[in-house]
Amino acid sequence: MTPRTTLTIAGSDSGGGAGIQADLKVFAALGAYGTSVLTAVTAQNTRGVDAVLPLPPQTVRDQLDSVLGDFDVRAVKTGMLGTPAVADAVAEAAKAGRLPHLVVDPVLVATSGHRLGVVSAVERLLPYAEVATPNCAEAAALTGRPVTTVEEMVAAAEALAAAGPAHVVVTGGDVDAAGESVDVLAGGGATTLLRAPRVPTRHNHGTGCSFSAAIAVRLAAGDPVPVAVAAAKEYVTRALTGARHWELGAGRGPLDH
Ligand code: PLP
Repeated sequence: MTPRTTLTIAGSDSGGGAGIQADLKVFAALGAYGTSVLTAVTAQNTRGVDAVLPLPPQTVRDQLDSVLGDFDVRAVKTGMLGTPAVADAVAEAAKAGRLPHLVVDPVLVATSGHRLGVVSAVERLLPYAEVATPNCAEAAALTGRPVTTVEEMVAAAEALAAAGPAHVVVTGGDVDAAGESVDVLAGGGATTLLRAPRVPTRHNHGTGCSFSAAIAVRLAAGDPVPVAVAAAKEYVTRALTGARHWELGAGRGPLDH
C-alpha cells in the first residue's frame, strides 16, 4: 500500500539527532512517506550547535512549491524556522490552506543555549496550527509567564489555546512530577494531563522534534488530536527508553527511532 505523505519544514542537524533528520526518521519508523523543506542548515553534534545558516525565504517557497505541487501531503509539522522572513513564507502557505493538519513546534532555543528562532517568527504561524507543542521554556517565552510546575503548564496551555492554535500541548519533559513526565493538552474546550514514566537519561536530543513529527503522522492517518498526541507521547517514551544506554557522541545523544 502506498504510504501517506507527511512534510517537515525545519532546520537540519548535522549530528542526525534533531531537526529534519529526526523528523524523517520518525516518519519512516511510523510508516509515513516523509518529504522535507529545509529552513536552515546547522552545524551541530551531541554537544551543541556550532553554527547556523538560515536559508533565503525564496528557497523555502521554492521547496514548498516543489513538494506541494506534486505530493498529496496529508499533514505538516514545522520546527526551527530561523528568521521571521522564513516564518512569513511558511505562514503564507498556511494562510492559503496549503498546509493541512499543521503541527507547530515553536523551536526557540536549543538545550545547548543556541538561539534557533524568535518569538515573533513563531507567533506568525501559531494561528494556523491544529496543534502547537511548546516545551516549558517555549511556553514561558510565548506567554511571558514562568512555566515550571504542572499548574503553570495548565495555565500556559489554556492561555495559548485561547489565543490561536486549536490545541496546545505543553510538554513537561523538564519537570519531574513525582517520577512522571506530564504533558498538558488544552483545546476543544477541554484540558487533559498525559502521564508517562520519566525515562532517566541524558540522551534526549531531538525529543521535541520527534514528538511533533509523530503527532503529524497520526493526524495524517485521520486520528483526532487527543489520540494523536497520546500515541506520540508513547512513541517518544519508547524512543527515549531504547537509546538510554547508547553511546553516540560525548554529549546528549539521539533517540532510538
Ligand atoms: N537543532 C534543530 C535543527 C532543531 O530543530 C532543534 C529542535 O528543536 C534542536 C536543534 C534542538 O534540539 P535539542 O534542544 O533537543 O538539543
